[in-house]
Amino acid sequence: MITLAIQKSGRLSEKTVKLLHECGIAFENGGSSKLKSKAGNFPMQILYLRDDDIPECVSDGIADIGIVGENVYLEKKRPLAIVERLGFARCRLSIAVPKSMEYDNVGDLNGLNIATSYPNILKTFLKDNKIVANIHEISGSVEIAPGIGLADAIFDIVSTGSTLLSNGLREVETVLFSEAILVAGENLPEKVRKLLDKLLFRIRAVQTARNRKYILLNALNEQIDEICKLLPGMKSPTIMPLSTPGWSSLHSVIEEDEFWEKIEALKTAGAQGILVIPIEKMIV
Ligand code: ATP
Ligand code: ZN
Repeated sequence: MITLAIQKSGRLSEKTVKLLHECGIAFENGGSSKLKSKAGNFPMQILYLRDDDIPECVSDGIADIGIVGENVYLEKKRPLAIVERLGFARCRLSIAVPKSMEYDNVGDLNGLNIATSYPNILKTFLKDNKIVANIHEISGSVEIAPGIGLADAIFDIVSTGSTLLSNGLREVETVLFSEAILVAGENLPEKVRKLLDKLLFRIRAVQTARNRKYILLNALNEQIDEICKLLPGMKSPTIMPLSTPGWSSLHSVIEEDEFWEKIEALKTAGAQGILVIPIEKMIV
């Protein structure tokens, strides 16, 4: 049995549960009252916690692994291994100052009172930049601190920047880009390690598939070479003759990022009837 700690309810929960389901792990969702549940078809127990408690819970061995924001992992400074970056719950942690304040460079932070819920990450940043400032730790609504005279600046999560703007603040230094990560205790028993490897294999198959699309298209045989050059695929594209003489169907895999650019190039090279379909799992 492997025990996984996840956020009970918040910005990480939905995507975490979705990822586990995509990995074929069936369990009843925690709901608001549930503390733990057991997967039906994988030897896994799931603990539902506040995200702040996840690093400690894993380093203390109450859970073997956990899914948490990198920001919380860095702040808590627990001895854990980052096993995989999960690509969701992306956000950045930045320093913001009142719009009216003159700000040229990081040196302008010297002597300020900075309010934050992430004192450890901020301390490291200030030290790295040889800034001497006062860290004022508060647990929530950090962005209102300058407005009520509690601080000169803040260090907090920024998602869109609109919260900053509505509080009369301006983002001046981005300190950290964060995403959800899978963390593990440092000395997992062999049996648990094997289950983690199994889970990781599935997570990677889901992640790889997520960034790619399966593409099918038709083209005249003489255009196939040109089209193949545009589609590196996993190895080489599959080419099959169509019942119409002189035509072939070509199947391949393309990266999501280059999707639109490729489609245009393919059309120009003579591709027709292009179909692009999602891939559920991909084992490379
Ligand atoms: P809990 O009740 O579990 O303590 P919380 O209120 O501390 O929850 P959430 O707001 O649910 O935390 O955010 C959880 C994590 O999601 C953050 O630590 C961060 O890694 C990530 N995140 C992504 N985008 C945002 C965002 N726009 N605002 C806050 N957190 C975000
Ligand atoms: Zn929290």
